[in-house]
Amino acid sequence: MNRRTKIIATIGPASDDEGVLKDMIEAGMNVARLNLSHGTLEDSLERFHRIRRVSASMNTEVGILADLPGPKVRIGKLAGPVELPTGTTVHLVPGSPSDVSTADRFTVDYEDLLTDLQLGDRLAIGDGAIVLQVASHQGDALEAHVMHGGIIQGRPGLHIPSDRLRLSTPTAEDLRLLDAFVDVDVDFVAVSFVRSAHDIRRVGLEPAPRGPLVIAKIETKAAVENLDGIISASGAVMVARGDLGAELPIEDLPHLQKEIIERCVALGRPAITATQMLESMITAPSPTRAEASDVANAVFDGTSAVMLSGETAVGQDPANVVNTMSRIAARADQEFDYDGWAHQIRRDRLNEPQSQDSAVTDVMTMATWRAASEMGVKTIMCISRSGFTVRAISRFRPEAQILGFSPEPRTVRQLQLSWGATAIEIDRIESNDESVRNVLEIAKSRGHIRSGDIIAVLGGSSATIGATDTLRMVRCP
Ligand code: PEP
Repeated sequence: MNRRTKIIATIGPASDDEGVLKDMIEAGMNVARLNLSHGTLEDSLERFHRIRRVSASMNTEVGILADLPGPKVRIGKLAGPVELPTGTTVHLVPGSPSDVSTADRFTVDYEDLLTDLQLGDRLAIGDGAIVLQVASHQGDALEAHVMHGGIIQGRPGLHIPSDRLRLSTPTAEDLRLLDAFVDVDVDFVAVSFVRSAHDIRRVGLEPAPRGPLVIAKIETKAAVENLDGIISASGAVMVARGDLGAELPIEDLPHLQKEIIERCVALGRPAITATQMLESMITAPSPTRAEASDVANAVFDGTSAVMLSGETAVGQDPANVVNTMSRIAARADQEFDYDGWAHQIRRDRLNEPQSQDSAVTDVMTMATWRAASEMGVKTIMCISRSGFTVRAISRFRPEAQILGFSPEPRTVRQLQLSWGATAIEIDRIESNDESVRNVLEIAKSRGHIRSGDIIAVLGGSSATIGATDTLRMVRCP
């Protein structure tokens, strides 16, 4: 089954083995995510090089995403598992990241804890499984009631409502990690706890593909309020449902997911749906029925990619999880409402202000989608240096296969995130005639097209201008 929705899988201790990585790539992992909230920079860089090595040995392009921790507040290390029964109380005290916690007194690495939190504030531990409510100030500590109990261990994250949190993103630590990953040519960088477009601009990277594609994680109330500005400043967006679900009423989450995805894709940015997609597969060999439906519904919402976190980082069978997600997504792709989606995107995009360059790409890609759909063309080819045109055509979700050709290796890897795009590296972009001849030959030799097929080819009229201004309908020789 031909899958068009892409898969991101988080790499952790369960997926460090080269054999496991190979199996995950074979099962359909398009992008590997490194969660920099865990482990040392050295560990993460080692993982990065391992993924590059393994994917090169398989001759397969895998994008790599470095996910910056942001101002993530954590509870100091617990000596072992601690049970927090519902209805009991715990004490929270400010401390440094290396302070240890005891069963009823948790250190929290946020120095303004006592002043910034207010009575009645709800705090979530992990991805919301445990909920605390601030009950009183007691000297150097906050007393919190355990509203929903559970077992915690290690150094769990503590979600503080973002409008209470004074820390800004990216943090100094984020920028240190970012430098190290820019040096090794990482493909994507995800910014956590973004609140405005300004947070994305502060990351200060060169535009893709000279720099990594910047992914804004939508996980705060402020980000939802400033969504359009954040999308415009970013290369892609992640619906980070773990923190977003703790920040806003849980019943709002499915609707926010739909809205964020649609607005993001309408602007030609890939949208990622993340967290707890196949959570039960951390320990089980098959997902719950609800999880299978969640993955399929994210596809129906128009997501470009679906993401796995603990399932592949610490789960018992990472390759089986990727394989399961791939099958569910591929089946959902078959049932997707292609026509309805494209018409909705046409309506949405007309409401967005555009720069002149993106307006040209906008109309050219729309004309391409229209010509391809009206003629029942099976293949759209885009010749694109930065991948921008490929992303712009992908937003219409054409039924035709999308082949993206670029001379930039990083563009080829960045397109691993784009819905429906098969990315192919070429030596260079030549004059339009030569480029068209060249990409037809490559596509034919790789079995993507056959003699006699009519193909829509989108590119620039000149190798030097770089703008996408030419659509040709050609017959494959
Ligand atoms: C999330 O909150 O859903 C998320 C993806 O972020 P993280 O896993 O980094 O907390």
